[in-house]
Amino acid sequence: MALTQQAAAELHIFFFPFMSPGHLIPMVDIARLIATHGIKVSIATTPHNISRFKSMLLRDNSSTANYNHINLYELQFPFTAANLPENCENLDCLPTRQLSYNFSKATMMLQPQADHLVRLHSPDAIVSDFNLPWTAQIAAKYGIPRLAFYGTCCFSISISVAMAISSHANTISSDTEPFLVPEFFNKHVEAESKTYGVVANSFYELEQEYVDYYEKIAGKKVWPVGPVSLFNTKTIDITERGNKASIEKDKILTWLDSRRPNDVLYVCFGSISVFAKSQILEIGLGLEASKRPFIWVIRDNIANQDGVLPDGFEERVKNRGLIIKGWAPQVLILNHSAVGGFMTHCGWNSVLESVTAGVPLITWPLFGEQFYNENFVVNRLGIGVGIGVETGLAWGEEEEIGALVKWDRVVETVNRLMGGGEAVEEMRERVSQLGELARSAVAKGGSSVVNIGRLVEDLLSLKNEKLMNRQNIGAMRNHE
Ligand code: UDP
Repeated sequence: MALTQQAAAELHIFFFPFMSPGHLIPMVDIARLIATHGIKVSIATTPHNISRFKSMLLRDNSSTANYNHINLYELQFPFTAANLPENCENLDCLPTRQLSYNFSKATMMLQPQADHLVRLHSPDAIVSDFNLPWTAQIAAKYGIPRLAFYGTCCFSISISVAMAISSHANTISSDTEPFLVPEFFNKHVEAESKTYGVVANSFYELEQEYVDYYEKIAGKKVWPVGPVSLFNTKTIDITERGNKASIEKDKILTWLDSRRPNDVLYVCFGSISVFAKSQILEIGLGLEASKRPFIWVIRDNIANQDGVLPDGFEERVKNRGLIIKGWAPQVLILNHSAVGGFMTHCGWNSVLESVTAGVPLITWPLFGEQFYNENFVVNRLGIGVGIGVETGLAWGEEEEIGALVKWDRVVETVNRLMGGGEAVEEMRERVSQLGELARSAVAKGGSSVVNIGRLVEDLLSLKNEKLMNRQNIGAMRNHE
């Protein structure tokens, strides 16, 4: 399936990422990955989001032979029209959850600018986040394929779709009662009819049956091309991935170097999660009482509020706890041998980065598909311990709900994972084997590399088909 340079160079793919770190980060990696195959790639997003990855692209362009330049196109974000504060261009910048609707409205208003770009540059395909549904209309208008990126695994996409259309969901008696997910219906296939296929940040060996299942039931091609975090091999790219870290790389590494292997728990709930202050207090008290070394990442908009951490907490834990207020270099941390556990909200990127680093998880889902990801981690892969949350938080209601998990449950779960024992050793063994499989998938001849080749071949043959059809129509007209 080797691509000739000439064939690849004929393709131009336009990327439209969604403006949230969990979507932007992997999609930029996918764009970079595709560009290494000699394909012309363009990314269209807003200026602030471009600033988060531009220096990485400049490094790519200056260092890699045969690396095609990635074109960046700015979309102006309609703050005023959507009643948003200026520079609020990413979901993680929203000062309050109440503005989520305005944010979503603003992303919908980008369609005319995107349409203009596509008309001007005539790409051969669009890779779009599923949160930007209008790209399907643009793709249809210009007769090019649209590939969707969901930001999660095939297991969760399959369950999400089935849940949305399942009549069984209406017959269960409580939110926690388990039920069998039925087959997909044509309805979903119709709704997604304008999408040619799905590019996933996953790897085939991790969820083979769900990749096949989704492909079959949705009638679409699925290309798992990850884990895309592994595409970052330079320390600077790993450290700056997604945003500028709020702590010096050397400070973190020195701190981790002084710890024993597998001794540190890394605690981070992703880029957009919000907790009630009372819940953060309980987490702090639990980490303190566990007496184990930890790195705890607290988003800066929360960390800088008064009274968030227990009184005197930072002083009391200073010899064994590192608190990062703001953006942490997550992949750098997870890959240090001192890290032996990850307490996570089960955002898919975090799960996959942990699997890739061979680190078992404490799962604490907060909303949406994070619960499906937890199920996959704990029940299917057997590489995690659940903290025991059964219900999700509705977007924006965190403060009203308060603390769902008390400090003693935090201690108990942390000790279960970090305390070792036979069950945990088996988990470590399983997750490190999956980490090996992940690395093989992105190595030469691996499944993800082969999938990128297939994807490009597919797009190329679609393009050729289109050209031939045009020529045939032209010839028929001449004949008439
Ligand atoms: N991330 C990071 N540092 C942080 C917080 C998050 O590098 O302080 C990265 C993390 O490595 C992952 C992404 O941001 O790649 C978060 O995506 P995920 O799907 O885990 O969760 P989300 O933020 O979308 O809820």
